[in-house]
Amino acid sequence: MVLPPVIDRGFTQVRISPIHGSGLFAKKKIPKGTRLLEYEGARVDRKQIVNDAINGLTNMMYVMGLNETTVIDGERNGNDARFMNHHCSPNCEVYFINDTPFIYAMEEIEEDEELTFDYQLSIIAETQVTSLQKKERFPCNCGSPVCRGTLIAE
Ligand SMILES: [Zn+2]
Repeated sequence: MVLPPVIDRGFTQVRISPIHGSGLFAKKKIPKGTRLLEYEGARVDRKQIVNDAINGLTNMMYVMGLNETTVIDGERNGNDARFMNHHCSPNCEVYFINDTPFIYAMEEIEEDEELTFDYQLSIIAETQVTSLQKKERFPCNCGSPVCRGTLIAE
């Protein structure tokens, strides 16, 4: 596995994650309510990316829904936020301000803790996958006692 470049952004750092691939971690203690970073990426037509997923052209791993017609694809022009893993009991959440998603700490976070949010991948449901396919294709290994077994929102 190729290590991602280490980029200093104050509170956060990309490292290898025990959950999956690379993850974003706290470099130092983070107070509750801190705005950490923007979730950057290309603005993409929602229908187009759902079609691309149905045709196997993308797995939508870095897609965040913005509104009815547009999603943000962190795979294109994304930043460190795209490395954040899903967790069923996350320590961060996303707030949209002027149509721009920002990651906030929803609790006090200790140094070296992995930063996570609940992907709530409802857009995947638009590709008509069955609940078995959800767990096979988009499994969750977050380790939370309330883990729902898939990244996709029910
Ligand atoms: Zn989980």
